[in-house]
Amino acid sequence: MPTRAEMWDRLGRPVDVLVIGGGITGAGIARDAAMRGLRVALVEMRDLAFGTSSRSSKLVHGGLRYLEQYEFSLVFEAVSERRILLDIAPHLVQPLGFLFPVYRGSRQPLWLLNAGMWLYDGLSLFRSPRIHQQLSASEVAETEPSLKTQGLKGAPLYYDCATDDARLTLENAIDAARHGAVIATGAKVVGLTKDETGRVSGAVVEDVRTGERREVPAGVVVNATGPWTDRTIALSKALEGGSLLRPTKGVHIVVDSARLGIEHAVVCFHPEDGRVLFAIPWGERTYIGTTDTDDDADPSEIRATGEDVDYLLEATNDYFPHAKLTRDDVFSTWAGLRPLIRPVSADGTVDESAVSREHQIVVGKDGLITIAGGKLTTYRRMAAEVVDTSVKMMRLTGALPARIGTAPTDREPLPGGQGWPDDDEMSALVERIHEVSEQAISGSAAELLARTYGMRALELARRVRLNPELAQPLVDGRPELLVAVDWAVEEEFAHEVEDVLIRRTQLFFRDKDQGLGAVSLVGERMAALLGWSDERRQQSEAAYRHEVALARAWRSET
Ligand code: FAD
Repeated sequence: MPTRAEMWDRLGRPVDVLVIGGGITGAGIARDAAMRGLRVALVEMRDLAFGTSSRSSKLVHGGLRYLEQYEFSLVFEAVSERRILLDIAPHLVQPLGFLFPVYRGSRQPLWLLNAGMWLYDGLSLFRSPRIHQQLSASEVAETEPSLKTQGLKGAPLYYDCATDDARLTLENAIDAARHGAVIATGAKVVGLTKDETGRVSGAVVEDVRTGERREVPAGVVVNATGPWTDRTIALSKALEGGSLLRPTKGVHIVVDSARLGIEHAVVCFHPEDGRVLFAIPWGERTYIGTTDTDDDADPSEIRATGEDVDYLLEATNDYFPHAKLTRDDVFSTWAGLRPLIRPVSADGTVDESAVSREHQIVVGKDGLITIAGGKLTTYRRMAAEVVDTSVKMMRLTGALPARIGTAPTDREPLPGGQGWPDDDEMSALVERIHEVSEQAISGSAAELLARTYGMRALELARRVRLNPELAQPLVDGRPELLVAVDWAVEEEFAHEVEDVLIRRTQLFFRDKDQGLGAVSLVGERMAALLGWSDERRQQSEAAYRHEVALARAWRSET
């Protein structure tokens, strides 16, 4: 992978498509466009998946609850994408059973839910990871003994998928780079350039570390900045009638898995307001979410509050009465903004009162293409639509003479999925990691490598064989190894300690101490790899500690 300096050097050259934003939407667009043979640059002001794409519920799902609103096409599209992602990213997208307990007085009777389950499986053309089952109350109690049994009538058990949202984003960006795209992180768009007719002709990009600015000429510019969408549009001043977004905040909390002891995800309704929540098993942890409150704060500053945490604890304790969770049980939290859109009509006016779960592509009067809304699950389709729009626009302006086909993003596996066994059996890969590393990596560390990096885990194992010191754990007793730091820096665009600890290894969420014990080791290794001065290293380490402090601020709130 080219270094950041090399990417930055290439950034001034003209491109066909300039993508602003390195979340799942932007990374998906960059991959699709680069696979079509277009010249592409993606600029991300912080780190890939810094925004909502590392703060979701981490599900690749059809959205069962949208059936209630008769959104059949939305569900059909999402379950079709779920199938594709299972194929192209088998290491990152794994089937997960969801138990939907029904109690006396529940909003939906059991028979209605069951009918909904048939519809859900049917919309996937019965290609769900597994077909749903109907469990009786006693079967539910046996399957998940910690769940409240009082008034329990039974539960459907259906299947969706769990993923690592940040890694899904990252692998799209890596593949885009493999297809020739420039991927520049720490690169913020601070202005748009326009030609003599007033059309957007590129952007002014600032290196956030040095302050250096440069212009990037482009055939089209795509705004894929998620909850920052309106701020980016403001650079162009081309959308009339107010803001396009109505963002809502969603918070998750992380607790030790032993506290709930669940093997399946559990769908709950909050006892106060009836909102749907999930408790999701996550290896040695369980996370619970999410809230849904209007919020127009700066998306970079979004955090969980004490009130958010208490709200989630209340629902959890209602469904798992023996858990008796308190604030002290919460290891970590994350908060993200849903970039929900207010629909825009053909004449360019925004309907302030409505909000949609679907995505929308809006082309401003100056030609800026904005994509907003949608879901992690449907990113691939959204990306293809944006690139289709981009190609059409470039044709109209004569900027693209050659014929451009579509990209096989539905068939071509993401990097870690290339060579993945057809039977999805991971044990052979785990064994190979053990062998290739000359027995230096085994057990949970080998499994984590396989699940995280897919077939590319073998390349990390080779690095360990060449330098056995890289088998050192980042935190004593945990499976994350030092080799992940080298890999993150050299192959995965990590440039700060927080990139490694939050979005490459998830130690920020999973470790009891939120990775604070690993900061010096990671800082030292990154300094050696990137030639940092002491000052630079201290800055990066301090920035991580600050992130942890901010994420814990809710603890002092009453
Ligand atoms: P983002 O990921 O926010 O990316 C935008 C990027 O743009 C950011 O990285 C930001 O740094 C960058 N940026 C902003 N301004 C600039 C600039 N001027 N220059 C350069 N870069 C800039 N979907 C699912 O399918 N499944 C789920 O389980 C799910 N759960 C969710 C739970 C919650 C709580 C939330 C909030 C959302 C959830 N979603 C889920 C929706 C999904 O996460 C989002 O739709 C998706 O991540 C949005 O991605 P994005 O790329 O559009 O935005």
